[in-house]
Amino acid sequence: MNYITYEIGTKNAFFIKPYNFNINTISEKEFMDNINSVKNELNIDNLALVTQRHTADIKKVTLDNINEETVADGMITDIPNIGLGVKVADCQAIFLYDPIKRVIGCVHSGWRGTVKKIVKNAIDVMVNDYGSVISDIKVVICPSILQDHFEVDYDVYLEFKNSFNDIDKYTIYKEDLNKYYIDQETLNKDYLMSLGIKYIKVANTCTVCNGNKIHSYRYEKEKSGRNLAVISL
Ligand SMILES: [Zn+2]
Repeated sequence: MNYITYEIGTKNAFFIKPYNFNINTISEKEFMDNINSVKNELNIDNLALVTQRHTADIKKVTLDNINEETVADGMITDIPNIGLGVKVADCQAIFLYDPIKRVIGCVHSGWRGTVKKIVKNAIDVMVNDYGSVISDIKVVICPSILQDHFEVDYDVYLEFKNSFNDIDKYTIYKEDLNKYYIDQETLNKDYLMSLGIKYIKVANTCTVCNGNKIHSYRYEKEKSGRNLAVISL
């Protein structure tokens, strides 16, 4: 199996090696073949992608704008048969699903996105523009870099501290190395619960520890590929 899927009541998959969605490391043909495999596996006609830039911006995807190039790091739609896909290698991909209003979201939240609270922006769009009730929304945090490998210096720790007062609860400081290790998965889980989310599934799978099976930037550096996280109604 070259993808991981979660039982949340709508189609979703986290495509891993040997699939690769980093256009800089594979040919255009290979990329298109991989995109077609995703469509076939999930039985969808359309796949929406955005130009990811570690922003906190959300695109509302429709059949009219699906092929427009948009800089954003999250997408929302209520249209069936459109897959929303984000490319990740260590960053969190987060699925959102409201089974009552039938709305989905897909978010790329690396540490910059987490600090900017992009997932809250996505939830706000679902609530304000699609009528979702927060407690109905189911959330999945896909495999990402976990605390053992998310080693940062003081400057990055400080960015977290500025966004999350209680960051020390999620941080181990190793004095001998002068490095900080932040548990972003639990941080985002607790943050989502504080917003009123009731159902959260976390992968609890470290991409770096599993770098032989899952694309990981810290495992392979510049030559690393990208996984693709896709959700569809
Ligand atoms: Zn690890």
